[in-house]
Amino acid sequence: MAVAVSRSPLIEVQQVTKSFPLPGGGRMQVLDGISLRVDEGEFVAILGPSGSGKSTFLRIITGLVPASSGQVLYRGRPVAGVNPGVAMVFQSFALYPWLTVLQNVELGLEARGVPAEQRRRRALSAIDMVGLDGFEHAFPKELSGGMKQRVGLARALVVEPDVLVMDEPFSGLDVLTAENLRSDLLELWIDRRIPTRAMVLVTHSIEEAVYMADRAVVLSRDPARVVAEVPIPLPHWRDRDAPEFKALVDQV
Ligand code: ADP
Ligand code: MG
Repeated sequence: MAVAVSRSPLIEVQQVTKSFPLPGGGRMQVLDGISLRVDEGEFVAILGPSGSGKSTFLRIITGLVPASSGQVLYRGRPVAGVNPGVAMVFQSFALYPWLTVLQNVELGLEARGVPAEQRRRRALSAIDMVGLDGFEHAFPKELSGGMKQRVGLARALVVEPDVLVMDEPFSGLDVLTAENLRSDLLELWIDRRIPTRAMVLVTHSIEEAVYMADRAVVLSRDPARVVAEVPIPLPHWRDRDAPEFKALVDQV
């Protein structure tokens, strides 16, 4: 569901390609001229077969990996290096096992140069927001998969990114845990309890895309191109005012 009215582009990906060197020489083309625009208020899902380059694409948007050609703009400006407007949630959580929940979440702020006295306050607030109040001093190994992903989410949200990009964040979780996390995340987004202005979700689940997103972008494989952009019409049952949504809530 689009939660903001203005329609200015936050992210513009322009004709991005990516190739990797092959062990025997030559290069493997993974992304072949991908363009994507993400506007304020949008929730975009990216669907594509396994190995098509979805993770690589998100890493390029985030600035963790450079594109081979093409560019990424943030608020109209070309991004070199880490994208200042984007934070990422990883499929495998990517937590540091030797750090506590609090330290893992604070790390994102440290990397962005936030002064120490602000870090703790903001980290505690992010931990509370994702429902992990009381687990600040736990270590990742003491947490369930769903809780670990909540830490991953807190670590991304703590920097108050304009755009949250998520790489199959629910795929390592069991069905009920994934469902809880999906609906909690949607609630934070729809109720505007997070300052995030756009969401990008990579998923292999059409149901998840329809449940969460306003628009689905479908990628092909070998190499990846955008083969379809499908609007997901409102009101669908995620819209809390839609009769479908109310009827479902009545069932639960
Ligand atoms: P997806 O997330 O859609 O499953 P990935 O982006 O992980 O796809 O990978 C796309 C292709 O790029 C795969 O064939 C993968 O092996 C290759 N690839 C990804 N990262 C690297 C890398 N750092 N070096 C070489 N090949 C890579
Ligand atoms: Mg992937």
